[in-house]
Amino acid sequence: MTDRNAGGTFLGVPLYRPRTAFFELASCEGCQLQVLNNEATLAPFLGLLEIVNFREAMTGGTDDYEIAFVEGSVSRKDEEDLLKEIRGNARVLVALGSCACFGGVNRLKDRFDPDWTRKTVYGEAPVESGRARPLEDLVAVDLKIYGCPVKKEEVEKVVTNIALGKAVVSPKYPVCMECKANENICLFDLGEPCLGPVTRAGCDSWCPNSRAGCWGCRGPAEDANVEQLEKIMQEHGFAQETILDRLECFGGFARFAEAFRRRRREGAE
Ligand code: SF4
Ligand code: SF4
Ligand code: SF4
Repeated sequence: MTDRNAGGTFLGVPLYRPRTAFFELASCEGCQLQVLNNEATLAPFLGLLEIVNFREAMTGGTDDYEIAFVEGSVSRKDEEDLLKEIRGNARVLVALGSCACFGGVNRLKDRFDPDWTRKTVYGEAPVESGRARPLEDLVAVDLKIYGCPVKKEEVEKVVTNIALGKAVVSPKYPVCMECKANENICLFDLGEPCLGPVTRAGCDSWCPNSRAGCWGCRGPAEDANVEQLEKIMQEHGFAQETILDRLECFGGFARFAEAFRRRRREGAE
């Protein structure tokens, strides 16, 4: 039997180590890799959990777990079945990364005719590849960790909060707040587009810190004013396709992109 008190302490507090499983659906597995990165904190992180299923890190596995981290979107029937099975087993289901939260980069194929996409990628092979759906289209999701990939620090914080029974809160303000706190020069002043004003923070302005504009991988911030951002982008001389490319890249802004396309159609009539 598992020793539930073998988790050591965190800041002197004895820890209960929840049985935790990691799974992937349609994904690049980059989010799971992030969890395994950062050797400096890996040992204490693993000390918080009893990992019972993690294909990237161990062999074997069991259906006896309490927390399930699920990476990837759903585009096949077997993935749908697996997700429902995981939901049935887990007390807490965490959507890990943009693919799981929004459909992610997998949704880029929605820009094209589905038959054309399948034939172009798989030829005549009988491969099932439907629309990429986020987890919450099919099952209840308890927590979301945003990002493509997720930030290891954020995963650690979520796990620590679960282990300590604390609320898990994701920032609602935009990336610009973190970018300003990091004293970056605004990308717009350097002639680059950026979705920072409308994207949910929490990545510590990862891209602008390296002088790259935000592509919105964490989805919309609360009350995101995308129409205003469109105006700012246009005032800076960016083409409509430039903002659409960004809005449609990770799936989190899908409804805004749809509205953008509708306004553009109406403007052309
Ligand atoms: S969110 Fe990004 S890094 Fe994570 S699985 Fe999807 S494509 Fe890979
Ligand atoms: S670079 Fe982007 S995130 Fe930073 S302040 Fe400018 S618009 Fe905001
Ligand atoms: S800056 Fe934007 S694209 Fe880059 S990690 Fe943060 S949310 Fe994602």
